[in-house]
Amino acid sequence: SQERVFNFAAGPATLPENVLLKAQSDLVNWRASGMSIMEMSHRGKEFLSVIQKAESDLRALLRVPDDYEVLFLQGGATTQFAAIPLNLCTSQDSVDYMVTGAWGDKAFKEAQKFCKPNLVWSGKANKYTTIPSFDEFEQDPDAKYLHICANETIHGVEFKNYPVPKGKDKVLVADMSSNFCSKPVDVSKFGVIYAGAQKNVGPSGVTIVIIRKDLIGNAQAITPVMLDFKIHADNKSLYNTPPCFAIYMCGLVFEDLLEQGGLESVEKKNLKKASLLYGTIDGSGGFYKCPVEKSVRSLMNVPFTLEKSDLEAEFIKEAAKEGMVQLKGHRSVGGVRASIYNAMPLAGVEKLVAFMKDFQAKHA
Ligand code: PMP
Repeated sequence: SQERVFNFAAGPATLPENVLLKAQSDLVNWRASGMSIMEMSHRGKEFLSVIQKAESDLRALLRVPDDYEVLFLQGGATTQFAAIPLNLCTSQDSVDYMVTGAWGDKAFKEAQKFCKPNLVWSGKANKYTTIPSFDEFEQDPDAKYLHICANETIHGVEFKNYPVPKGKDKVLVADMSSNFCSKPVDVSKFGVIYAGAQKNVGPSGVTIVIIRKDLIGNAQAITPVMLDFKIHADNKSLYNTPPCFAIYMCGLVFEDLLEQGGLESVEKKNLKKASLLYGTIDGSGGFYKCPVEKSVRSLMNVPFTLEKSDLEAEFIKEAAKEGMVQLKGHRSVGGVRASIYNAMPLAGVEKLVAFMKDFQAKHA
């Protein structure tokens, strides 16, 4: 509709307009139940049908193998930074962390409270603009898992393939908060995938965990019930009151992604949007610059700077006047960041690149 802007926020982020309209039409009286989703018991048959459909649609989208559990949890991805070590290792165990940006670093630091994490690789010295080839760093063969952040939301660095954990029974664990459901993923390569919903698949308030079943059930004794994957798996994510409305919204998004033809077709659209934007940056003769090494540039979060950095504030302000909002880079790195998640239409990116060319012409 006319008043909606193109919202380039990193999260909470833009949602598909058709999903919002569907939620609006369901809001006061969901499917003739006489209630909204927010008002009904999480144990009633109505909500059970919602959470079960959300799970089965997500399983279809990601082709989640049967030996994996899908959990809908609370506390954001940040809570998983603690839950992962608490569930997967003892306090004396060693675990490996590759740190390719600010979020991986937070996960690594949180793990220090619960086990013995090794920093097997850090991109900090290069300001988090690269990912090494996987034989460039050594893993601890005794480590219980190797943790990566599949897409660094602030730095715009994305894994295009995945390291193989080296060690007996060692698994790969990935924070996929900012590229979840943006492309097909072979779930069987991972022990655990986790993601906060509020970038690609819903509102904030729900965190999705996909975990191989045999990894469940060995939580450290100090693990709070709310962080114990076994409690949530045994209770089908209904141990306590779940974030019902957020789960319902994710369900609508999953339906929408399936209707678009699934993640293969979603990835194609995302590639097209990203190449248009990166092409404009790289073709600007240095007026715009993306610091990230080309081979690992994120399809979701595109950070860039202006050669004349004093123009950045004006760039962001002028863009907002034209209905393109939330383009300011993260406060820790500055510059500009355009987040172009699944729900950002191609028209939004086309409008942004037209504006960029225009702005350059005015200020070159
Ligand atoms: N990991 C990544 C990659 C993120 O982008 C974010 C949030 N921006 C988080 C973790 C933290 O998520 P939450 O705010 O849901 O705890």
